[in-house]
Amino acid sequence: MTNRKHNFNAGPTVLPLTVLETVQAQMLNYNETGMSLIEMSHRTPVFDDVIVRAKQSISELYQVPDTHEVMFLQGGAALQFAMIPLNFGNGGAYIDTGVWSSRAIEEAQIQGDTKVVFSGKSDQYRSLPTADSIGAMGQGVPFLHYTSNNTIYGTQFHYTPDTNVPLICDMSSDFISRPVDVSKYDLIYAGAQKNAGPSGVTILIINKTVSRQFTGRSDVPKIMRYETQAKKDSMYNTPNTFGIWVVGMVADWVLSLGGLADMAERNQRKADLLYGTLDSLDAYNAVAEKSARSHMNVTFKMATVEAEKVVLAEAERRGIVGIRGHRSVGGLRASIYNAVEYSDVEALCQLLTDMQHT
Ligand SMILES: *Cc1c(COP(=O)(O)O)cnc(C)c1O
Repeated sequence: MTNRKHNFNAGPTVLPLTVLETVQAQMLNYNETGMSLIEMSHRTPVFDDVIVRAKQSISELYQVPDTHEVMFLQGGAALQFAMIPLNFGNGGAYIDTGVWSSRAIEEAQIQGDTKVVFSGKSDQYRSLPTADSIGAMGQGVPFLHYTSNNTIYGTQFHYTPDTNVPLICDMSSDFISRPVDVSKYDLIYAGAQKNAGPSGVTILIINKTVSRQFTGRSDVPKIMRYETQAKKDSMYNTPNTFGIWVVGMVADWVLSLGGLADMAERNQRKADLLYGTLDSLDAYNAVAEKSARSHMNVTFKMATVEAEKVVLAEAERRGIVGIRGHRSVGGLRASIYNAVEYSDVEALCQLLTDMQHT
């Protein structure tokens, strides 16, 4: 396959080629069943095996303890913004580190008061709170919510917030990119389309004390309760069978490369190469504060929008796609998720080096 682009899209985006090849090979006749996986009922032993194995692979990657379980829902990360206060209660504390955090806060505020305990807004979300400032943030609240990787601004937490209230994290854009101690969280959630699969499936790792017994208001719709989906093994309504299949294969691909620690090392090497190149060339300025730099989304700027346009045009010519910054912040951004190869980043760095005098 030689005509694939160097794909730096923010999401949906590049998936491991071997996974796509398996999808292609199995699309018409899944495991000799005589039909496609997307043509069969979700209530079959065949699909049951797919969902059970997908859960197992994610559990194995994160070494999910018995206290927690993996679920596959729909509605994206965005539906979780609403489900969190419905299930954990109103009055949660939020760390606001960008667009997605703000969206989570906005949604929670419809239901009741929230406490915004940190906001990076005044420095255009270039920085994150320090680890030792977190402890005081979640006193007497039902939960503390944060976004581990800020897809649009290019910042990433490089520590787990230490708190004594239930910790909730939107890991949409760095899910399965590095090891995480799941036991420290009551809920981790991620829209799959950044790092883990196609759009249309949301992966949750949730504490069973939350998922196995709903304790919220009686007017919460059944479908909005974690308990409903947990007790039906993520099949209260028809799940995204295709998406779950692909997520399982992506998780297996990460396992085959050695697991999350190896994936983190691989991602670190790519990030070091790209940030190193940006730092060494006067033409480019990395946007995020150094200690908060994301290993997933690298944001940078040039002196003028015109210069950026010239670079974007040359990128296009070289088959390098997806490096235009998010429409809300401008500049340039390269998303270097798990499935982006070191050689893709090398091609990007070559472009940046060649174009530094534009
Ligand atoms: C993309 C993204 C979202 C939105 O995900 P949907 O699946 O579209 O709801 C939320 N949070 C983060 C961190 C993201 O990167």
